Amino acid sequence: MSYSLQAGAFILAGLLFILALAGLSKHESSKRGNILGSVGMGVALVVTVLATQLGVESGGDEVAGGLPGWGLAAILAPMLVGAGIGVFRALRVEMTGMPELIALFHSFVGLAAVLVGWVSYLEGAPEVNAGLHYGELFIGVFIGAVTFTGSIIAYLKLSAKMKSAPLALPHHNLINLAAIVAFVGLTVWFVILPDADHVGAGGTLGLVLLSAMTLIALLLGLHLVAAIGGGDMPVVVSMLNSYSGWAAAAAGFTLNNDLLIITGALVGSSGAYLSYIMCKAMNRSFISVIMGGFGSDGAVVGEAKDYGEHRETNAADVADLLVNSSSVVIAPGYGMAVAQAQGAVADLTSKLRAKGVDVRFAIHPVAGRLPGHMNVLLAEAKVPYDIVFEMDEINDDFPEVDVVLVIGANDTVNPAALDDPSSPIAGMPVLHVWEAGQVVVFKRSMATGYAGVQNPLFFNDNSAMLFGDAKTRVEDIVHALQ
Ligand code: NDP
Repeated sequence: MSYSLQAGAFILAGLLFILALAGLSKHESSKRGNILGSVGMGVALVVTVLATQLGVESGGDEVAGGLPGWGLAAILAPMLVGAGIGVFRALRVEMTGMPELIALFHSFVGLAAVLVGWVSYLEGAPEVNAGLHYGELFIGVFIGAVTFTGSIIAYLKLSAKMKSAPLALPHHNLINLAAIVAFVGLTVWFVILPDADHVGAGGTLGLVLLSAMTLIALLLGLHLVAAIGGGDMPVVVSMLNSYSGWAAAAAGFTLNNDLLIITGALVGSSGAYLSYIMCKAMNRSFISVIMGGFGSDGAVVGEAKDYGEHRETNAADVADLLVNSSSVVIAPGYGMAVAQAQGAVADLTSKLRAKGVDVRFAIHPVAGRLPGHMNVLLAEAKVPYDIVFEMDEINDDFPEVDVVLVIGANDTVNPAALDDPSSPIAGMPVLHVWEAGQVVVFKRSMATGYAGVQNPLFFNDNSAMLFGDAKTRVEDIVHALQ
């Protein structure tokens, strides 16, 4: 295969990945974005496999030799098995189980980066720029190993296979710092090591340093993520997503593969940006997430305040209220995902619209457990995109809204974030649902949400609680409307 054909295919795949990211930033274009990304990955895989099979010629020189016939089988067989497992898992996963699946995938990227780095070291260094090669390889293995074990712990915590409470070893931040200092020291030592000490020239010290660093990085990944509360895991998964991208980019340098560098950098930077968006929407600093703490397991954080009595309502009264309204806003949250109520909510929406009621959706950027969680569920239930609004687009409209249905949302509609500087969620931007005429809150009890803080909204004079599973209650209302 000619070098220019390979380079052209890589540029095409890189462009498709960039267009995929652009498409994924809006729900209207997200399907197209997904398809473009898959096509890009298809092009990248076919060209990479062909290049390993046929070799790549540059200016008449063969720069990479072709593999023997069995080499193709050795590449295709694991690819098919991997693709089969991927399709099987993706078809079965629930939306609420998405973060843990993503965490598991990241662990594979991390492991791949570790293996690429190790194999490349055992094969020996190139004649030119050996120091640079050793540096890239060492950093790539480090990021890959941290990502590997960190992602496994994130997976275990998210899937409740491991206690989600933070593991608070004494001086855990100092332990992390010591691991980073050891890594920097070992990297410098590895890069300046005389050639004779590297494995390619028969030396063993290089191998010892690489092994020591790999072990430190594996333990650091374990410790770093074990120290973070289960509730903060989605931000951690997004951070590990970013690390896995940088690990892939480092592997790209080691393998001299431009497309892997581009793809890794795209994943690394978009993962970092996603972590930033999540932290901003939760009013948390990235550092405070890494240091652990927030994200309780349902216990009330801080002082329990007495907000007075709450009022209860029933499905028939809510149905009455809705048909006599002209403007209704639905604010969905994590509970809608748990109850899988999106289909019933879509049904209610179309019934109300058919009766001439203006229905819109208000989406908080971190409603649910991953950014875009609500948008995906509503799209799945075929709610029209043009009635789904982001928080900033709709927050000023609440005073003109007759009724807000808060369906399984809690923290994202908590006025204490604005009114109470002592609240753990103080400063987090929230949906101003309490400014509407009436608010109906769908949940099963008076329990707190993700942040573990009580919500004064539930005790307002214009709020009423509709207790029970969100799906059943919405279906009751649809029934009462008929
Ligand atoms: P919350 O997690 O604050 O609250 C969800 C509510 O849903 C609970 O109060 C619960 O009450 C109710 N609920 C649970 N199951 C059901 C059910 N079957 N039927 C009816 N209600 C149910 O949800 P929000 O979406 O408002 O907030 C998301 C939180 O997650 C925020 O604190 C955010 O910071 C955090 N977070 C979000 C991330 C993201 O990217 N989206 C990432 C990391 C964290 P009850 O038990 O009484 O039913």
